Amino acid sequence: MERTFIAIKPDGVQRGLIAEILSRFERKGFKLVAIKIVVPSKDFAQKHYHDLKERPFFNGLCDFLSSGPVVAMVWEGEGVIKYGRKLIGATDPQKSEPGTIRGDLAVVVGRNIIHGSDGPETAKDEINLWFKPEELVNYSSNAEKWIYGVN
Ligand code: UDP
Ligand code: MG
Repeated sequence: MERTFIAIKPDGVQRGLIAEILSRFERKGFKLVAIKIVVPSKDFAQKHYHDLKERPFFNGLCDFLSSGPVVAMVWEGEGVIKYGRKLIGATDPQKSEPGTIRGDLAVVVGRNIIHGSDGPETAKDEINLWFKPEELVNYSSNAEKWIYGVN
């Protein structure tokens, strides 16, 4: 089953939005298979955002990600990579639709509270960067047959 990496950035944690964000993924029907709270080092933040190293905001972004606790998660479900990005909303909260996490809960691009993998390759790389294989929990939930309609 498909998996994606989702992180609540330091602004989301400090603003008390952990439960709100978890709840949106959980209520949708996605399954939480890993979660931890960590303060990433700057070096780690640079690894996470390596694709953006030429961008002018890269240094500030990595300083910010490593400035405090981050809630790192892996969510599982059919289409979770793409739909997770839909739940999150556009990168710039000024452009995110109402009803999305960034649309409802954030105002500026530099403090957009949440990260989500943007495709299958980045999902795999980001899960491997943030989690050891044994930190991912394989389990079935009773809700699955009601969410997917199969036994
Ligand atoms: N970012 C920023 N300024 C910009 C574009 C992006 O500060 O002009 C930050 C923003 O926090 C964003 C992160 O860099 O979430 C990663 O950028 P990306 O384009 O990957 O957006 P995302 O995948 O998070 O929507
Ligand atoms: Mg991105």
